[in-house]
Amino acid sequence: MTHLQKFQQELKGKGAAALISSHANIFYLCGFSFHDGYLLIFPDAAYLLTDARYSEAAEKETDKGFTVLVPKDGMIAAFRELLGTHGADKLLVEENNLTVATFDRLKKGLEAVTLSSGVTEMLTGLRVCKDEGEIAAIREAQRITDAAFAHILDFIKPGVRELDVALELEYFMRRMGASGLAFDTIAVSGSASSLPHGVPRDCKLQEGFLTMDFGARCKGYCSDMTRTVVIGKADNEMKRLYRTVLAAQEAALDVIGAGLFCSAVDKVARDVIDKSGYEGCFGHSLGHGVGIDIHEAPRLSAKAGDAVLTAGHVVTVEPGIYLTGKYGCRIEDLVVVGADGRAENLTKSPKELIEL
Ligand code: ZN
Ligand code: ZN
Repeated sequence: MTHLQKFQQELKGKGAAALISSHANIFYLCGFSFHDGYLLIFPDAAYLLTDARYSEAAEKETDKGFTVLVPKDGMIAAFRELLGTHGADKLLVEENNLTVATFDRLKKGLEAVTLSSGVTEMLTGLRVCKDEGEIAAIREAQRITDAAFAHILDFIKPGVRELDVALELEYFMRRMGASGLAFDTIAVSGSASSLPHGVPRDCKLQEGFLTMDFGARCKGYCSDMTRTVVIGKADNEMKRLYRTVLAAQEAALDVIGAGLFCSAVDKVARDVIDKSGYEGCFGHSLGHGVGIDIHEAPRLSAKAGDAVLTAGHVVTVEPGIYLTGKYGCRIEDLVVVGADGRAENLTKSPKELIEL
């Protein structure tokens, strides 16, 4: 079943039409990436509405099942006409994406229709379990990311700036076939490595930990990995900290699989860190889902409630220890839960402590 068919099946149960407005959900449903337009979907029909800039590419690239339209009298008039043709009196919208201004315009222009939220929740539920094609794209993105790490180890020399490391990773991934980046590359050294999401600076790499967090995008899907290496020599305290992060990650990777509470996986890693004397130094959750968006469901977090890992979930496992003002270290792998319930680590890069 295509993504569209799965979504239409759910829509049928709700007796409604749906307006899709976010880039990620549009791409998920129609396989075409464009930044101006909407999908209007009924249980038995689907329309892609855009303008002349995208219409030719949309005709060629959009998955089967969509009718491409270029409205002459504005989007709202086109929605009104299509909703009338299909006899729909209820329209679900993307509660996490639609602006208040657009919502107000819809309300004014579609008086005969009841607007309601629910699309974000429905599509989050569908997107969380990846199919074979999606996993293949993520696997390819991670393969490129691993290759970039091997490349950067050779590239790093005395005098290289944090910015150079980030740019080289990005250039390499694009050259290897990535269509873009999964997110802004992080490459921070010395005391800045204590910032989990630090921005690469125009300064030479400092002695101590260098944390690199980066990912590629392939066929619309992201990868995500972090490696921390040492510029110069690691002292005993740094070695102990690194070993603790790695032990926390390995403990989580050992247990992760279908049927486990997402919060339980977080706890396994957190306990290792807390019991090693670094309590309170792991300030973020253990991991997140990865797909069309770099951060999506499910979350491996103490706050994940009753969310349970199932086949098709793709998640990161990324414990870290951050000593404010001193340094920090994070190690991140990308894992897919297979049909047999077992987790497969898609990240192949080495994790022993590397001194450069
Ligand atoms: Zn990352
Ligand atoms: Zn991540």
